[in-house]
Amino acid sequence: MKDKLIVVCGGGGFIGGHLVADLRRQGCTRIRSIDIKPLEEWYQVFEDAENLRLDLRELDSCRKALQDAEIVYNLAADMGGMGFIENHKALCMLSVLINTHLLMAAKEAGAQRFFYASSACVYAADKQTDPGVTALKEEDAYPAMPEDGYGWEKLFSERMCRHFQEDFGLTTRVARFHNVYGPHGTWDGGREKAPAAICRKVIEAQLSGKHEIEIWGDGEQTRSFMYIDDCLEGVRRLMESNVSDPLNLGSAEKVSINQLVDIVEDIAGIKLERKYDLNAPKGVNGRNSDNTLIQKYLGWEPGVHLREGMEKTYAWIHGEMTAGAASK
Ligand code: NAD
Repeated sequence: MKDKLIVVCGGGGFIGGHLVADLRRQGCTRIRSIDIKPLEEWYQVFEDAENLRLDLRELDSCRKALQDAEIVYNLAADMGGMGFIENHKALCMLSVLINTHLLMAAKEAGAQRFFYASSACVYAADKQTDPGVTALKEEDAYPAMPEDGYGWEKLFSERMCRHFQEDFGLTTRVARFHNVYGPHGTWDGGREKAPAAICRKVIEAQLSGKHEIEIWGDGEQTRSFMYIDDCLEGVRRLMESNVSDPLNLGSAEKVSINQLVDIVEDIAGIKLERKYDLNAPKGVNGRNSDNTLIQKYLGWEPGVHLREGMEKTYAWIHGEMTAGAASK
């Protein structure tokens, strides 16, 4: 890996930015990072990487991005939390162009390995109606009835990876991420996910002195949340493995949204009056990661406790918000 040309697509985003940082820490010296956003909007920028602004929905841009590429990570997608994906289904589905054109360009470039970031949103809705839901196994994605829009795109793109491997010999690896969180990610603007949104709301309440918080749904919906360090470790292990089927990459520590709010309140040292918005997008009732297969194939599973990861995330968002307030 160290001398190979590695291309991180979506490198200006949350996970892509952390991945570039992690590859540099591992000693990789030839990293190309691509994003559609202007450089000043990237969460992390590394001067020693080749940073390019390209729209990867275009085949020509993908060819440029992957010229001479040996290892490719596709983390580029038009996405966000439930508030975004429930209201922008067509935009989410258009990310199919990104993965399809990247696969074509990777094949043309003779890339050795291609990583695709799929999602727990591929899982069939009827397996996620109960907040006490048993954890989702990889086989639960079929018969298919994924999250409308975003989930269908992910499931289709997973299969494109599979068929590029089977038909064209391109080695592909697919992880189904379950809610990744951590510093250097979206925390406002409408694309943020629950952990960052709750940190922001608690900090806003603290700074304004208005001790209230709005929660989407009744707060009893359950999820698991994976800290970014675990995500990076899992991606590294999967890329080094011979596992070509999609694999869950998520924490098995299930909590309700109310419990997540308890944790953030505790970190902040505050108690807030909870207002529930029952009409807001809240996603499925229950979702957790079954880690039997990742344990079997990689001998490992995510292990950072939610409380520990949320302390680091809260501290970073607090720093961003107070720095923003000070500069205003
Ligand atoms: P992110 O939004 O922070 O990063 C995605 C990046 O892709 C953004 O910087 C965006 O500008 C870029 N992008 C979008 N369209 C592009 C285009 N046409 N050309 C080039 N770049 C483009 O999201 P993230 O949380 O870092 O997610 C990375 C990947 O992991 C995505 O595929 C996402 O669907 C998947 N995923 C994330 C989570 C999570 O909880 N964060 C969960 C499941 C799956």
